[in-house]
Amino acid sequence: MNKLASRRAFLKGKVLRNDQNSIRPPGADAAEFLELCTQCDECREACPEDIIKFDTQGFPVVQLDAGPCTFCGDCANACPTGALNPEHIAYWPWRARVAATCLSMNGISCRVCQDICDHRAIRFQLQTGGRAEPVLDTDTCTGCGACASACPAGSVSFERHTPPTQEVAL
Ligand code: SF4
Ligand code: SF4
Ligand code: SF4
Repeated sequence: MNKLASRRAFLKGKVLRNDQNSIRPPGADAAEFLELCTQCDECREACPEDIIKFDTQGFPVVQLDAGPCTFCGDCANACPTGALNPEHIAYWPWRARVAATCLSMNGISCRVCQDICDHRAIRFQLQTGGRAEPVLDTDTCTGCGACASACPAGSVSFERHTPPTQEVAL
């Protein structure tokens, strides 16, 4: 039995939790990722940004608050099993969102996320009391994570924003 077949046989008896909030590396196939990934570590080793870590089940996740993803595709190209498909890298469903802990929303002047965003996907709406609320343009945001890794308050997270025509990563 080859490695992939034995992996499938092994997984048959296991219930793996398919966490929809896990940010898998670019090119992860929504339907088959957990079945195809052998937890071999090749994607993590290939990532020049060192932002791929492993979740508690041993599967790779991209940790965008550790640094931005450049969508270079090195992880997908290194994947030996097809769990990451280089042709699906563009279908990245994640978009930034800012939590209420944002400094600007609490009256402390900060525009770090706006300044670092190459895609100009963040603008600020002035509020009363010296506060300003960041507004995300989800059509422009690429989900790269540059804002998340720069935010001094750790207020940026990511949520799935997948148009129906873009069915991909877990
Ligand atoms: S696309 Fe490149 S930068 Fe992004 S996780 Fe993969 S290897 Fe790392
Ligand atoms: S390279 Fe592919 S098979 Fe190996 S851990 Fe990464 S996603 Fe899983
Ligand atoms: S994830 Fe990237 S593109 Fe989106 S708002 Fe943050 S820096 Fe801009």
